[in-house]
Amino acid sequence: MTEPYQLTAWQAAEALQARELSARELTASVLHRISQVEDRIHAYQHVIAEPALALAEDIDARRARGEALHPWAGIPIALKDNLCLRDVPATCSSKMLEKFFPPYDATVVEKLRAAGLIPIGKTNLDEFAMGSSTENSAYGRTCNPWNLDYVPGGSSGGSTAAVSADETILALGSDTGGSIRQPAAFCSVTGLKPTYGRVSRWGLIAFASSLDQIGPITKDARDAAGLLRIIAGQDRRDSTSIDAPVPDYPAELTGEIKGLRIGIPKEYMIAGLNAEVRAAVENAARFFEEQGAICREISLPHTEYAIAAYYMICTAEASSNLARYDGVVFGHRGAGPFDNLIEMYCQSRSEGFGPEVKRRIMLGTYVLSAGYYDAYYRRAQRVRTLIKRDFDQAFTRVDVILCPATPTPPFPAGAKTGDPLEMYLSDVFTAPVNLAGLPGIAIPGGFSAGGLPIGIQFIGPVLSESLILHVSHCFQLGTSHHRMKPRL
Ligand code: GLN
Repeated sequence: MTEPYQLTAWQAAEALQARELSARELTASVLHRISQVEDRIHAYQHVIAEPALALAEDIDARRARGEALHPWAGIPIALKDNLCLRDVPATCSSKMLEKFFPPYDATVVEKLRAAGLIPIGKTNLDEFAMGSSTENSAYGRTCNPWNLDYVPGGSSGGSTAAVSADETILALGSDTGGSIRQPAAFCSVTGLKPTYGRVSRWGLIAFASSLDQIGPITKDARDAAGLLRIIAGQDRRDSTSIDAPVPDYPAELTGEIKGLRIGIPKEYMIAGLNAEVRAAVENAARFFEEQGAICREISLPHTEYAIAAYYMICTAEASSNLARYDGVVFGHRGAGPFDNLIEMYCQSRSEGFGPEVKRRIMLGTYVLSAGYYDAYYRRAQRVRTLIKRDFDQAFTRVDVILCPATPTPPFPAGAKTGDPLEMYLSDVFTAPVNLAGLPGIAIPGGFSAGGLPIGIQFIGPVLSESLILHVSHCFQLGTSHHRMKPRL
């Protein structure tokens, strides 16, 4: 028998509207699932049980009164713990923000509330979203539901693990260099990074502001389309948000695959690519050709410089963004005693930040410092332009790009914690998309011989979310990878 927690958002919405299921029953079912599996997964930082049930009852009462509600009203959603939810701790998985209770809701949270969705908890992440494994959390790692000894990816590993383990119906994550798509691939769920500016970043605790973007993490592309429709749109509180109408994404999951031109970048299918990941991409290409699409090789010649440029730009921006945690206005304050202000800063920041965050602040301060700025930061910005041009060029020849989401299937916990560079290479296929500001989506593409998830990725031009969602939806109509569930 299907338990309510196993439903997709659209399935749940249908049951809610048919009065076969109440929001309270759905929320209680998800909370029950959390109580069953969470001690093994550790997807959540906080579960907001009682307020969620109270909200659900309110939705049920309003629906019973015949109020016109959004079809998704009453559906639980998990939020990455770098998103602000009023009066609920937002730790960013850092000791620095252990006691931070945001006094306001992020714009995306306001939009979720307006649609009647129910925040059910805050999910674990790599500290300040810096990492690819959710091991850099000050509150312990999250486990991959498919094999608890493996990482779920990161930094939105709590959100992707929660969706994969049915500990929520929907989730939000953030993606600066791959943090939605890489863990989506590792957990066998759907993760969409929208075009830079498509979703307001107001109330997202900043990591690298020219790259950060909030996006949906869901059980399939149809749910991602529904969730993006709710959270997208211009916001005067985020000057980088785009002034463009929000399409009815779910209604746009139609159209022709026949004749669609799909490009596969040769620089992504390199010798070092894991054979099973390569096979998943090739199988997907075959699937689309059978549907009448045209797959051809393309070139993104500056790909090899993307990781270096990404790690200069993101660390530079992080060093600036994280300067606010001084123990005065924001963040943990050391116990003292202090002889002077500098000592207070030093002790507070030394205690509050973990090793990866400190590494990035130092790298970022270095690449921005006088005498090195031109050699590193400015050069990285130039590379960024070249990478963007590569994509512009490619999209004159093809409509959409198909490629791996990650170079390997999930790796065991602890395998890369001693080697930051190895960890950084997890982002080779995702970070270029952030540098270019484009939308990208990772969806389940199969499994390794060892039963671990493998993701595939679609990348489209600016504001082509409808297209990449449609392509993903077509793939999911013809395959069943996304319906496979970990045995827990
Ligand atoms: N893994 C990448 C990093 O460590 C991306 C992180 C992210 O997208 N937030 O920077």
